[in-house]
Amino acid sequence: MTTTAQFTVDNPCPDWCTLEPGHPVDSIHDDDRRSRGHSGPNFGAHLTVCSVEYTDVPGVHVPFVELYSESEDLDMVGLLLFARHALEAAAWLEIERDKAGLACLATGRADAWLAAHQ
Ligand SMILES: [Zn+2]
Repeated sequence: MTTTAQFTVDNPCPDWCTLEPGHPVDSIHDDDRRSRGHSGPNFGAHLTVCSVEYTDVPGVHVPFVELYSESEDLDMVGLLLFARHALEAAAWLEIERDKAGLACLATGRADAWLAAHQ
């Protein structure tokens, strides 16, 4: 019988996640590790915050920003807006990574958080 690790209320989503609270594992990786992806704020039409949380290190989040594009042409205004959104996303990411690192440090999971950044 195969058991699938699930997250519980003890493993809440990061406060920026916009998915249904307690959403389950959604990926099985080549090394058989299981994870769930969190999705958060958008910065403009092309940038979305995400993170992957593994069941063997619950609560360890390494947020990153995904770029979505449909090969859209950008005029000067569109390009300037994209640049502004990219700067906003970078500033947000820096703050959230610091918060996530401090949270792991406070709960004795600094090693797991550091490993997730490699
Ligand atoms: Zn989530």
